[in-house]
Amino acid sequence: MLRVLQRIVEAVNQAPDFELALQTMVRQVKEALQTDSCTVYLADHDQQQFALAATDGLEVSSSEPIHVPFGEGVISLAAKREEPLNIANASEHPKFLKLDEVDEARYNAMLAAPVIHRRRVLGVLVVQQEHDRAFTRDEEAFVVTLAAQLAVVIAHAEAKGYLRTTKQSPWLQTTKGLAAAPGVAIGPAYVVQPRAKLSDVTPKKSDKPEHEIRRFRTAVARTRQELNELSDSMKGQVAEETLAIFEVYHAMLDSASLGQQVEQTINDGWRAQTALKIVVEDLVNQFENLDDEYIRERASDVRDLGQRILSHLKERGRYEHSPPPQCILVAHEVTATMLAELPNTEIIGMVSVRGSGNSHAAILARSMGIPAVLGADDFDINELNEDTLVVDGYNGEIFINPPLQVENEYRELAEEELELRQKIETARGKPVETEDGVKVTLQLNVGLNTDRDWLNELDIASVGLYRTEIPFMMQERLPTEDEQVELYSQVLEQFKAGTVVMRTLDVGGDKPLPYLPMNEENPFLGWRGIRMTLDHPEIFLVQIRAMLRASVGRNNLQILLPMITSAEEVDEAARMVKQAYHEVAEEFNGHDTQQLAAPKLGVMIEVPAMVYHLHTIVDKVDFFSVGSNDLTQYLLAVDRNNQRVASLYDAYHPAVLHALQQIIERANDLDKPVSVCGELAGEPGGALLLMAMGYRTFSMNSYNIDRIRWIIRHIKAADLAPMLARALQARSPQEVRKIVTMTLEEAGLGGFVRAGS
Ligand code: PEP
Ligand code: MG
Repeated sequence: MLRVLQRIVEAVNQAPDFELALQTMVRQVKEALQTDSCTVYLADHDQQQFALAATDGLEVSSSEPIHVPFGEGVISLAAKREEPLNIANASEHPKFLKLDEVDEARYNAMLAAPVIHRRRVLGVLVVQQEHDRAFTRDEEAFVVTLAAQLAVVIAHAEAKGYLRTTKQSPWLQTTKGLAAAPGVAIGPAYVVQPRAKLSDVTPKKSDKPEHEIRRFRTAVARTRQELNELSDSMKGQVAEETLAIFEVYHAMLDSASLGQQVEQTINDGWRAQTALKIVVEDLVNQFENLDDEYIRERASDVRDLGQRILSHLKERGRYEHSPPPQCILVAHEVTATMLAELPNTEIIGMVSVRGSGNSHAAILARSMGIPAVLGADDFDINELNEDTLVVDGYNGEIFINPPLQVENEYRELAEEELELRQKIETARGKPVETEDGVKVTLQLNVGLNTDRDWLNELDIASVGLYRTEIPFMMQERLPTEDEQVELYSQVLEQFKAGTVVMRTLDVGGDKPLPYLPMNEENPFLGWRGIRMTLDHPEIFLVQIRAMLRASVGRNNLQILLPMITSAEEVDEAARMVKQAYHEVAEEFNGHDTQQLAAPKLGVMIEVPAMVYHLHTIVDKVDFFSVGSNDLTQYLLAVDRNNQRVASLYDAYHPAVLHALQQIIERANDLDKPVSVCGELAGEPGGALLLMAMGYRTFSMNSYNIDRIRWIIRHIKAADLAPMLARALQARSPQEVRKIVTMTLEEAGLGGFVRAGS
């Protein structure tokens, strides 16, 4: 059964268009279950009716579309109950609806499964049979499973505008994702893809053969150029025989047959990618089936050449990473390293099919002030081709080639945003103090992007969190001690007037190291942060030594330990920090006049266990730093990276607020400084809640510094207590959000609240 299911799903996904996908589905389901008919109905919520979209088995006498009003018929009942209905004799069912245009009376047995995507009924999948009988449990499970798969196909089609209902504008193509970084960006899409694979190409038709042929010829020309550059760069480094492969490739490109066949297939009505796939796969098959070993080997050359052409067809400039000016980065999965590799002055917005508002790519986007929508899983990036996108980072919406009117509305919004930015910049250089004189310390989160010299302009003296893992992730090996010293020195030098809290390596979770395999079922609950580094003293000690060496003569280093769950971990880490300190101090203090101070040691409070165990570590460390991102993830048991459960991840959850309140109360009792370096500290409402609890040190990304400074300077700390009391009593994050929004609005700070943010 599983194999049949897989085969059907594969066939449906490979279908060149939506209609054919539905036809394939009904035909294959009918065949697999050996029933007399299979039908798909699609829900039209605007018109409050179901439309018969595809059938194999029902005889329809009218050429007009067939509709079933919501509330009528067995299919409506299945949709309303949101469960499958398995009926031995449907015509006797009180809900049975006889349609004049459909010859259905001869069918007795009926199994109707609702098609549901993200809690919304999109349609109903129905199988019917002449003799009355109940479908077996296996058959029922089979149809329900397929209905779930069909839901994804329909949702994709809906997102791409294939399923426009009558009330929707015919030209507005929009997709929803998760609002990951606020703001609005308008610009050309720049798609970054992993190297293209012919096997991944979904066959698609095109009615513009000239355009497709032009694209194909350009891709071939670029492939030639790429081959020339490659062979030039390898000359003298490899044997002449090896270079001969390039000759073979050129010969293949020269051969009239490959190009001609592809162009002919395009003329048969296929898109360039599809035509290339068809021709190359056919050639590969022919070669692989020949007896001559040498010729069989050529199959892989043909495939490789095909993929090279394909990569040029799908995207321009992938290898050089030369995005067009002011563009929107689009990828299946935008990673922090990908962003770091790109010239960030050109990237003004970001769209990622995978990820969610708290994955590190989102944090990075926010720190760069780039509006971002993540988790846009209905977005087909392969469809994009020099399209203009509007990215609404407040509401998590993306518009593809929107009409001028929509674009203009968004331009106005972007201007308002710019005005706000200019206004709040004027508070730079002024004290970070509430209207009633409560002083607050703002610090920076850096590490994902360290080389920003304008950070100094922000009027911030200290770094509250330096995430050290990114340089580790961007290399193909561990950075050496000297390389790390150089890197850390830059940050310590840039903030020499203040302090820099450097966090030890926090890899694992959504930040694996490419050269240290960590294949885990539950990476966020696995070998992450301090757990990994304590297992590898040779990595940990080198990093601490590098930090200390960089601090010599500056003495502004503080060290922070991530993912601490027990006092033993702190003991072990502190012992190694001490060891490294003695080593480095001995090396330097002997023959250097500069002195090395022992760094302060802090612990991240981000695993819920520590909320209740602060007393066990308080004497071992100098400060606590609350990681509200992970604290939320672990308290609510919601993967911060998983878009399916993203709506459940909310730091405004009253349980998270209670935990944060408890931390500050305990830290105050224990007389230990505590700051917050998670995203909540840099978010207007979050900062108010934390202020109300008594936190006075906040570390955040550069984008939020001006905002939070402005907000603090325009509130009275004494006014916040009632807001906190109500928030702690609230029943849901939504209720907390309303309470906080109201407080911001009452303080005249409504401009900092936008829908979705
Ligand atoms: C946190 O968990 O809140 C935090 C600041 O660390 P990171 O986001 O890097 O896990
Ligand atoms: Mg964390």
